[in-house]
Amino acid sequence: MRLHIDRTTCDGRGLCAELLPEVLGEDDWGYPLARDGGGNDPRVPAALRGHAERAVAQCPRLALRLLADPAGH
Ligand code: SF4
Repeated sequence: MRLHIDRTTCDGRGLCAELLPEVLGEDDWGYPLARDGGGNDPRVPAALRGHAERAVAQCPRLALRLLADPAGH
């Protein structure tokens, strides 16, 4: 799975990085940064899927969604 970040909607409060620190860090303004260098679509390991679903559900701007990884992961 990949976690898509809609940067036009995100307002950078950093909640997602708190809920999913293994996948997301924060820049100096609180906007999420993919730790794997995956830009707007960092990969989510299967073991963290539940945490990613929680981050999607709790994003106050509905700026996150889970996508199937084209590579099938
Ligand atoms: S929780 Fe949503 S609005 Fe907040 S930083 Fe993450 S993507 Fe942006």
